[in-house]
Amino acid sequence: MTRCPPVPRAHDYLYYLLYTEADGIFPSTGFVCVIMSNKDFNIAIVGGGLCGLAAAVPLFKAGLNVKVFENAPGFGEVGAGVGLGPNSIRALDALGVLSAVVARSEQAEPTMRVFNFVSGYEGHEEVFDYQTTNPTNVGLGIYRPAFLDALISLLDPSVTEFSKHCISITTSDTGKHIIHFADRSTYEADLVIGTDGIKSVTRGYVVGNENQPLKYTHTAAYRALVPYKDLLDAGLKTDLVTRPQCFIGLDRHVITFPIQGNKTINIVAFVADHDTPWTPELPPPWVNPSSQSELKNYYKEFGSDVMIILDHMKVPSKWSVHAFHPPLESFVKDGVVLVGDAAHPMLPHLGAGVGQGFEDVLVLTHLLTHPQTKKANLSHVLAQYNKVRPPRANSVLHGSTRAGEIYDSFHPTAKNDVETTAKLLNEIWEPVWNYDLKKDLEKCVGALEEQGVFAKEA
Ligand SMILES: Cc1cc2nc3c(=O)[nH]c(=O)nc-3n(C[C@H](O)[C@H](O)[C@H](O)COP(=O)(O)OP(=O)(O)OC[C@H]3O[C@@H](n4cnc5c(N)ncnc54)[C@H](O)[C@@H]3O)c2cc1C
Repeated sequence: MTRCPPVPRAHDYLYYLLYTEADGIFPSTGFVCVIMSNKDFNIAIVGGGLCGLAAAVPLFKAGLNVKVFENAPGFGEVGAGVGLGPNSIRALDALGVLSAVVARSEQAEPTMRVFNFVSGYEGHEEVFDYQTTNPTNVGLGIYRPAFLDALISLLDPSVTEFSKHCISITTSDTGKHIIHFADRSTYEADLVIGTDGIKSVTRGYVVGNENQPLKYTHTAAYRALVPYKDLLDAGLKTDLVTRPQCFIGLDRHVITFPIQGNKTINIVAFVADHDTPWTPELPPPWVNPSSQSELKNYYKEFGSDVMIILDHMKVPSKWSVHAFHPPLESFVKDGVVLVGDAAHPMLPHLGAGVGQGFEDVLVLTHLLTHPQTKKANLSHVLAQYNKVRPPRANSVLHGSTRAGEIYDSFHPTAKNDVETTAKLLNEIWEPVWNYDLKKDLEKCVGALEEQGVFAKEA
C-alpha cells in the first residue's frame, strides 16, 4: 500500500487528506493513498450501506484504525435509483468521493435539477417549475448498486467484515464499547458509528430499545425501473429525462428521474392515507412484491401519462414507509454515534434522506480526522456533532413530511389549486439545498477551541 508524506500544515489537513492524487487514488498504481495516523482510538462502523461506506472512506484514507461490520454476506443495495440533491453533491465532494460516484453514474457530471411538478390528472398541466437562485444547484440520479460500487472501490477490502449482525452494544470496565454479534463474536472499539439503517440496533444503545419513535406513516411506495424507450414507444408525452418529474394529485404522487445515462427511469408511485395518524411500526417485512392491478386501482383518476408509466411497472415492489415521530433530540451516547437512517429516518418526499446522512458523515469525519482529536477529547468532539446535526437533519425530516402533504393536497378544483400549490412548493427546497455546512464545521472547531479542548491555531 502506498503511503503519503506527512501532512504539511495542521489546518490544511482535510483538504490534504481528501484531495491529494485524484481523491486518494494514485492513477498510475490504482492503490489507495493512506496517511499514517497517530490517533490513539479505534473506530467500528456498524452497517456497510451508503452512509457506512461514505464514512469509512475518509477515515480509512486518513489512516485511522477503522473497521466496518456488515450484516449481509457481501455489499449490496436495492436495485433502484437514488436522487442526490445539491447539498448531497457538495458533501460527497468534500468527502473526496464525488468523482468516483460520478464516474459510475454514466453521466459526465451532476446536472439534475429539482423536480418539475405537473398535475397527475389528464392534460398534465404544469403546476410548478422551481427556478433555482443558484445555477450550481444541481444533483445526480444514480443506480444505488453503482453508487455503492464507487465507494467500495475506494476502500481496502480488509476494512470490512461481512455476516456480522450486531445484536447489542455494551461497555467494558476500560470504557471501550463491546459490539456483540449474532455469531457470538465481539469487537471492542473506542468509538462506534451506527450506520445500520432504519431498523438500527445501535440506536438501542443511544435511546434505549423501548424508546424508539419509529412509526408506520400509512404511506406505501411502489418502486420500479423502466427503460425510457418503452415509455416513449407507448406514447408518453411528458419529458422524463430533461427534468425529474413529480405528478401530483389527491393522496397520490408519482416521481420519476433518469439514471444510467437517461436509459432508465427510476419510478416511485406513492399512495398515502393522510387522515390516519401514524401508528407503531409494522411487523416485518416492510418490502413486498406487489401487483400492477393493485397499484393502478389507486390511480384510477389519473391522466394518460401516469397510466403509461404505471402500465410499465409490471411487478412493482411495495415499501411500507416508516419514519421517526417525534425525531431524536440526540444522536450520541457515550462513544456511540448515530448517522444516516439510524439517526433520522424520514419520508422520502424531498429526496433528501441519504443526503442528510452524507452531511452527518462529513461533519463527523471532519471532526474525527482533525489533528487535535484524540481519545481523551472524543466526548467533547462528539458533543459538537450532536449540537449541529440533530437540528439540521430533523428540520429536513419535518420538511419531508410537509412536502408530501403539499404534493398530496393538489387538486385543480376540489382542494389546493395550481396557484396555491405553486406558492407552497416554492418554499420547501431552498432550506434543504442551500444550507451552509461549512459554517457548521467552523462552528464545531471554533467551539472546541473556545472550550480549550483544541489549541487555537496560530
Ligand atoms: C422509497 C424510498 C425512496 C428513497 N429515495 C431517496 C432519494 O431519492 N434520495 C435520498 O437522499 N434518499 C432517499 N431515500 C432514503 C434513503 O434510501 C436512505 O436515507 C438511505 O438508504 C440510508 O442510508 P443508510 O446507510 O443510513 O442506511 P441503509 O442504506 O439502510 O444501510 C444500512 C446497512 O446496515 C446494515 N445493517 C443493518 N442492520 C445491521 C446490524 N444489526 N448489524 C450490521 N449491519 C447491519 C444493512 O445490511 C445495510 O447494509 C429513499 C427511501 C425510500 C424508502
